[in-house]
Amino acid sequence: MIAVVIGHRLSSQGAVNTRGVTEHTWNSTLAADVHAALMVYGIESVVVQRPNHRGGYSEQAQILNGMGVDGIVELHFNSASAPAATGTETLCHPRSTHGHALATSIQRSMCAVLGLRDRGVKATETNGAGVELKTLTRTHAPAVIVESYFGSNATDTERATLAMGSGSLGKAIAEGIADWEGPR
Ligand SMILES: [Zn+2]
Repeated sequence: MIAVVIGHRLSSQGAVNTRGVTEHTWNSTLAADVHAALMVYGIESVVVQRPNHRGGYSEQAQILNGMGVDGIVELHFNSASAPAATGTETLCHPRSTHGHALATSIQRSMCAVLGLRDRGVKATETNGAGVELKTLTRTHAPAVIVESYFGSNATDTERATLAMGSGSLGKAIAEGIADWEGPR
């Protein structure tokens, strides 16, 4: 069972892309697409919403651990103050071999569909602001954080919106999960 986690939450929706779409809205649509595409591969998945209050990341990690999932894919998009920042990246925990393999597989298939700069797999325990990424550090299953594109970049947003509209972004992430040689 794969957990597809919608980044951010209803009352705190994360970054906003150049089309005015929040991460929470974007990731809700994408999570449904990934879930549907995984069915084609015969892979069971569950879409997970973070509890809608502060401190929800710790609670979410506990929930995911309690569910006993085999892999965790949390969906986001990137944002930067510099509008030129561009590209696709996937985060994993530095000491998770299976997480790194999952991130590598998803990163490869996303880059093939989006054609944006390949920023690679980033092994890290914190985000750019130095905040602990509890989805990576507090969970038992191999976990990754997907940052498909920069919402702060208009070209990235247009490319990703096209790929989302055609369903190819969700399919690419599902393909990356299906190709993963992990302990699923
Ligand atoms: Zn985010």
